[in-house]
Amino acid sequence: MRFPRIEVLGVPVDCLDSETTMDVVRRMLEGDHPQAVIAVNPEKVMRARNDTTLLDQMMRAGLLIPDGIGVVWLARWKSGREVSRVTGSDLMPRICALARDRGCRIFLYGGKGEVVERVATRLCERFPGLQIAGIQDGYLPETRMETLVERINESRADIVFLALGSPKQERWMSRYLPRLRVKLCQGVGGTFDVIAGTVNRSPEFFQQVHLEWFYRLMTNPARVIRQQALVQYVLLVMKHHLLRVR
Ligand code: UDP
Repeated sequence: MRFPRIEVLGVPVDCLDSETTMDVVRRMLEGDHPQAVIAVNPEKVMRARNDTTLLDQMMRAGLLIPDGIGVVWLARWKSGREVSRVTGSDLMPRICALARDRGCRIFLYGGKGEVVERVATRLCERFPGLQIAGIQDGYLPETRMETLVERINESRADIVFLALGSPKQERWMSRYLPRLRVKLCQGVGGTFDVIAGTVNRSPEFFQQVHLEWFYRLMTNPARVIRQQALVQYVLLVMKHHLLRVR
């Protein structure tokens, strides 16, 4: 299975669609070492340009899904291929369905205590037979991380969903993933909050017209600082790519 991994402003991203992504996930579940699945969006691209730990972890990831439309457009243009948007929040339930079908065990780490508990309940309702190997809220002190690594390994989890937000979750992967006896670890950011119902995903209309970021900004104006990265991304893309073509 071949798909190009290209660079967007110096940050890697895989050019694929949901079906190829699931093929790669299936292959990871048959593998013998832990692989990271990381979503790439303009905000992460901008951060990775100045964060070597984040960039290193992205380079070592087994899958870098094109999650943000700004990344998808540039990847299409650079690769000349049909790249589809594959969001982390859509991929997670698909991996859960596969895990249920294959008898793989999942571990949920991140979010507030009541959120991660609700996610476990909701996933079991949605995917009857899904095996939850363990859960842990995302506010564990660093001093207890060794115990968590042991717990995950003893739980015989095959898959870890990590919801610590970025770049915390990639830093965690960089430090602890090599020591886990799991097959796959997906960084899912705020997806636990959406599954638990504490945060609403943007309505279908905003998703269709690729304006989820705008909906999030309207419903949570505190994100304005984070979303400045989007403007910087657009300006840099214009500077590095579009203007250079002329
Ligand atoms: N979070 C956590 N531990 C922390 C910081 C954050 O578990 O130390 C969780 C937080 O509860 C939320 C998620 O990480 O559920 C961050 O969501 P956000 O939407 O900011 O992440 P993004 O998808 O933008 O990376």
